[in-house]
Amino acid sequence: MRSILSIQARNFARSVGWGKYRGFGATVRWSSSDPRQWSTPLAKQLSEAITTTGPIPLAAFMRMCLTSDLGGYYMFKQEGRDQFGQKGDFITSPEISQIFGELIGIWFVAEWMAQGRKSKGVELVEIGPGRGTLMDDMLRTIRNFKPMASSIEAVYMVEASPSLRAAQKRLLCGDAPMTETAIGYQSISKYANLPIIWTDNIRFVPSEQDKTPFIVAHEFFDALPIHAFQSVSPSDSTQETIKTPTGEHKLSPEAAANRKGSQWREMVISPTPPDATHASLHIPKSIQSSGDPLPEFQLTLSKAATPHSLYLPEISPRYRALKSLPDSLIEISPESHAYAQEFAKRIGGSKDTPKNEPSGAAIILDYGPADTIPTNSLRGIRNHKRVSPLSSPGLVDLSADVDFIALAEAALSASPGVEVHGPVEQGQFLLSMGIKERADVLMKGLREEKKRGVEGAWRRLVDRGGSGMGKVYKAMAIVPESGGKRRPVGFGGDVDA
Ligand code: SAH
Repeated sequence: MRSILSIQARNFARSVGWGKYRGFGATVRWSSSDPRQWSTPLAKQLSEAITTTGPIPLAAFMRMCLTSDLGGYYMFKQEGRDQFGQKGDFITSPEISQIFGELIGIWFVAEWMAQGRKSKGVELVEIGPGRGTLMDDMLRTIRNFKPMASSIEAVYMVEASPSLRAAQKRLLCGDAPMTETAIGYQSISKYANLPIIWTDNIRFVPSEQDKTPFIVAHEFFDALPIHAFQSVSPSDSTQETIKTPTGEHKLSPEAAANRKGSQWREMVISPTPPDATHASLHIPKSIQSSGDPLPEFQLTLSKAATPHSLYLPEISPRYRALKSLPDSLIEISPESHAYAQEFAKRIGGSKDTPKNEPSGAAIILDYGPADTIPTNSLRGIRNHKRVSPLSSPGLVDLSADVDFIALAEAALSASPGVEVHGPVEQGQFLLSMGIKERADVLMKGLREEKKRGVEGAWRRLVDRGGSGMGKVYKAMAIVPESGGKRRPVGFGGDVDA
């Protein structure tokens, strides 16, 4: 959900219950002579894979839809159009107002000041940088704080998409040459003689103990795959079997005995059977328009345990507490946990990667509930409209709510040297960072129409109601442990200039 339209659509969908996982249909296997027409090559490939392996976890489906080389949503570019902006599928905060990136830049300047104004070893790291607009606005802003600007040794852009990487390079480096490196690609910033380095996973960004990484992830975590689980009461569950990619296997009598009581079952994806109807897929009438095609894929509850259902919902007391409550739904994104852990280790150090002194900061901005575990949050967006996430794989942006508390837990468990602040609502964060004051400065001397544009844009970022992004979006910070002595600016702290 990235556009204002989509927020409205999402609230509407929530109120009518759309997005509810759909029924508990039987496993479907398609024969290789299946004459079915698929919307995209990726749909065909997914269906063929499922014919071989059986239904796949939602996370595997989401990963393929977003980043598969065979036409994943972020991996290819249609002529004359990308994913962002009025002509694309959605619009994001940095694209709405330059002030967004400026204030994130200021937030890092404030952290840099609070952490002793290091004169070297600073790195800026952005995860999922889209068109590069946020980093461009940040760099332009930080340039005005000379001592910090000269402490920056490199900018790392973690990006999976070749076409977005090219767009980022054009914006940040202009015509400067781009060269291939061991971890990806490299060019030089148009602002200063600063290397801009691309790689497709944070694991490849060098982790050195004397560096100070300032990390931003805006609308990145919502694009990471989720697993979805439902708890079932003992009578509904098949205790003795487990589903794996090689088929259903019988558990030993001891293992089966251990699994008495409520069980987690995983939501899995398979092609929609030919005889399905809207009713059999439990799609509410209120959101069907006449002639709406059925989604190509269906989400059903696995009849037996899967490898993921046995361990993922056991990793946190938050999930375990819901297990005995029949029909509880939870979403878990292990890739998101891994990213939050990486951020924490790079800032605070860990047993395997010790740091002399914790330094750096991460700010995560995204949408999701403040403290509850997301449920039923998978959504599809195309052309600024909410569409089925289970049709036209690769042509639809898929995303899911971010579980901020799970990210905080992951960060804290990965490093003793960090603390986590937030999540706070985006509106509250941006207002305390001075969005209004900055807008007033920008509007001075502008003609009426332009003034209205600036005004409308910043308000859109902070408004809590209607199509505003101030409430649904949240900000969370990971910073060096201070023993309760310091709060970051925007999270209740002041700039100590
Ligand atoms: N932060 C940008 C873009 C958000 S869209 C903005 O606010 O405008 C999500 C971004 O994450 C895109 O750049 C997409 O290509 C990237 N992305 C999605 N999944 C990824 C993955 N698994 N690894 C690396 N980048 C990914």
